[in-house]
Amino acid sequence: MRDIIVKIAIVDDTLSNLLIVRKHVELLGHTAVTARDGGEALEVFEKEKPDLILMDVVMPEMDGYAAARRIRALEDGAHWTPIIFLTGMGSEEDLKCGIEAGGDDYLIKPVSPVVLGAKIKAMQRLLDMRKTLVEATQKLDSANQELQRLSALDGLTGIPNRRRFDEAVQTEWRRNARVASPLSLAMIDVDCFKQFNDHYGHLAGDDCLRKIATAMQSALKRPGDMLARYGGEEFVAILPATPISGGLLIAQNLRDSVREMRIAHEFTDGEKIVTVSIGVAAITPDYVLTPAALIEAADEMLYKAKTSGRNQVHGKRCDNSAVVSCLPREAA
Ligand code: GH3
Ligand code: MG
Ligand code: MG
Repeated sequence: MRDIIVKIAIVDDTLSNLLIVRKHVELLGHTAVTARDGGEALEVFEKEKPDLILMDVVMPEMDGYAAARRIRALEDGAHWTPIIFLTGMGSEEDLKCGIEAGGDDYLIKPVSPVVLGAKIKAMQRLLDMRKTLVEATQKLDSANQELQRLSALDGLTGIPNRRRFDEAVQTEWRRNARVASPLSLAMIDVDCFKQFNDHYGHLAGDDCLRKIATAMQSALKRPGDMLARYGGEEFVAILPATPISGGLLIAQNLRDSVREMRIAHEFTDGEKIVTVSIGVAAITPDYVLTPAALIEAADEMLYKAKTSGRNQVHGKRCDNSAVVSCLPREAA
């Protein structure tokens, strides 16, 4: 066990007792701070942050039991300061009261320096064990947090994964239903990506997906918007508080962000660069429908974009009115 010097607070209203215990403590190689009653003990506890408190029981104003209770109330879960009562009272009932007040041990005065030294050592050992335990718990907590963060991210692209999307779409559905606000969802699929892989190789394909994810993520400006990898070469964007007009505009920005990288793709149907097709749907969520309706509508619009020649955006409002709007930005 480490034999570290501990800061020990000695609380006693009788000066002669205080000085004797202080001498013992200092001879044992520890540092002593002192208080003359319960109130002063609280001040010393807060100011000096002692490692251990030796507390007299009978004192004017606030006695040792009351001071111990107050100290325990001041400690948060991560801290614990051992309290050993030093008292002339030696009945079983006194011992019980002391432990119930938050004390950890009990010494009958006059205190033998040998017994005092042994008790301090035992408390040091407990403090050490507790410190190790608290540190291990803190490490475990941060490891768990990191694990939770990583389990929500896609390994290839680093953006939120399908699981995170599934959670987020449910949350946004409920949030937008509460405030009767429209929710847009864009389904994004890379055009002729099989040919890209076939001709440039799978690793180049992976790199391309990473670039697409990064570009599209930077094209989303609102903190509430989320881009996720839906699976394979498909991505999905959730756009809260966004009607179909806004959804189409953002989808166009997503499409442009990919085109602007001008990643060569000789084997695609249209422009000889990597492009995406996007289907957008918007709905004002309610408590009858589910996000599946919105995803299905966006999928339908994505299919339309693909069959209309790829590299374009199509959208639909899937509320009761079910108005369909189609928006390839430019004819060229
Ligand atoms: P379309 O324009 O109609 O979408 O055609 P497509 O070739 O993109 O679609 P298809 O579904 O036929 O092929 C998708 C390809 O995406 C097939 C698969 O090899 C590739 N792919 C899916 N996930 C990954 C991945 O993680 N890395 C790489 N490199 N390729 C992937
Ligand atoms: Mg696909
Ligand atoms: Mg594709």
